[in-house]
Amino acid sequence: MIIILKPDVDPSGPEVQRILETLHYYQGVTTRISAVTGTERKVIEIYVLGDTSRIPDEEIAHLPGVERVVRVSKKYRLIGRHADDQEAFGFDYNGLHFDQDSFYIFAGLCAVDTPEHVEMMFSALKEAGLVTSRMGAYKPRTNPYSFQGHGRKCLPWVFELAGKYGIRCIAMEVCKEAHIEEIYEELERAGRPTGVMLQIGTRNAQNFELLKAVGSQQEFPVLYKRGMGITIEESLNACEYIASEGNRNIVYCLRGVKTNLGDPHRNLVDFAHVPVVKSLTRLPVCVDPTHSVGRRHFAPDGIQEIFHAAAQGVIAGANMVLVEFHPRPEKALCDGPQALRLEELPHFLEDMRIVREAYLQRKDLASRYALQSMAPKMAAVS
Ligand code: PEP
Ligand code: MN
Repeated sequence: MIIILKPDVDPSGPEVQRILETLHYYQGVTTRISAVTGTERKVIEIYVLGDTSRIPDEEIAHLPGVERVVRVSKKYRLIGRHADDQEAFGFDYNGLHFDQDSFYIFAGLCAVDTPEHVEMMFSALKEAGLVTSRMGAYKPRTNPYSFQGHGRKCLPWVFELAGKYGIRCIAMEVCKEAHIEEIYEELERAGRPTGVMLQIGTRNAQNFELLKAVGSQQEFPVLYKRGMGITIEESLNACEYIASEGNRNIVYCLRGVKTNLGDPHRNLVDFAHVPVVKSLTRLPVCVDPTHSVGRRHFAPDGIQEIFHAAAQGVIAGANMVLVEFHPRPEKALCDGPQALRLEELPHFLEDMRIVREAYLQRKDLASRYALQSMAPKMAAVS
């Protein structure tokens, strides 16, 4: 059960005290107060957990300070699309707006290695007019002896360089709660020259404690990657953990699923799920063609497979593309064989512009056909 409070109700005031006392009268029930900053207003909600079946909705709805009571019978109550939704979709972060209509390309290194490579990447992005990037400082690796990322120590110069080249948001994976604090402290120390979107990698897609940790802070938005071996439903439930802790500034990312049926690709590309996730949730949807395809390979038409996969996501309405580049892929400390080359950036961006434009035209076409099919019905009514 979720109790949504009226605007301006003080969470530590007497109205909330009375609501909590009423709820705690019912045994086995616990409560949690959550403040959610939406695009239009800040919403205070009380989550009622446990056996809520005996709590009378009507009585609670009439208590002072209560706007409405919602029974959580629906899936993904907070991130899902529901008929009774009253809040606008989407969020703003560091001068950028994210919703199911926005479109950004986050291009960058899989793993931060040298200042020279990071600077080359940011400089190329600036030249291309991009303000969004990806940079891994903490790398969860399959092999314990592989490079694990430079961690905290690279953050000062990564942030400084980002500021120098006007990068507004960097997607950066976190593997444990302490990483959030490290990023926060280093950003503060650097004078906030850029912003960070905390990335939950596929290996942590059901690490519920980590999901709660990124969900219980409001500072950074979250890029949640689908688990490589779980269903859409399981991963949306996991993603709901983030929102249930109070942070709804989430982008959902498809990155392929693990099965030999995807061979010779690293994963089976699941970008047909872009419109599925957009229908089931209110989240902007990202696609990661790099980890889906996992190799540099040119098809006979002269187009790289990674370009093809990215195009499949974008033409289906993806709102973000997360893609790996490297100035010297042969020197990369992680995922070099799947990195696009820096000199391929203008080609990639032009290709994405074509498909994005095609998607917008397809959307327009669909609305024209929808209007046409409504016209005879409207004529019949009038
Ligand atoms: C990444 O994007 O750096 C990454 C490791 O991806 P994934 O979690 O999807 O494997
Ligand atoms: Mn990678």
